[in-house]
Amino acid sequence: MPQPQCPYCGRPTQLASFQEVYPELQAPEPRLYYRCAPCDAHIQCDLQTLRPQGRLANPQLRQLKRQLHARFDALWKGPHSTLSRSAAHRFLAKLMEMPDAACQLAWFDLAQCQRALRLLGDQQAMQAAGQRQARPVRSRLGNTIVTVRRSRSIVIDRPA
Ligand SMILES: [Zn+2]
Repeated sequence: MPQPQCPYCGRPTQLASFQEVYPELQAPEPRLYYRCAPCDAHIQCDLQTLRPQGRLANPQLRQLKRQLHARFDALWKGPHSTLSRSAAHRFLAKLMEMPDAACQLAWFDLAQCQRALRLLGDQQAMQAAGQRQARPVRSRLGNTIVTVRRSRSIVIDRPA
């Protein structure tokens, strides 16, 4: 694969080391990037094949991608999550109306990131609302206490 063009300005990108991309940080392991310095855009590439591992991202896209990764990870790593990572991925593909194989966060552009964030946000809000509803609801009429359980069965307590 030839080196990618910068999607922002159309110029060819340059290979760059971690130190060139993040001069203020220390590389956790050897890393190589394609970079467009004028656009402050880069993407990591595979050390052997030199394939870019996603879409070149400028600061705005990198920011959205961090948010999206956090929200996606909450789907399968969250304290209440029941999905495996691959199930979470299939779920996102379905939300995005994309084939599973095409639904790769690393290749999402700005509009796709925004859409995924919105869809996952809606989904999580709905789940939270569902969990609120699933809690037992208790109401009281005089001495009588009515409990609607998660199972939707109703218990009526009438203390003597
Ligand atoms: Zn550029």
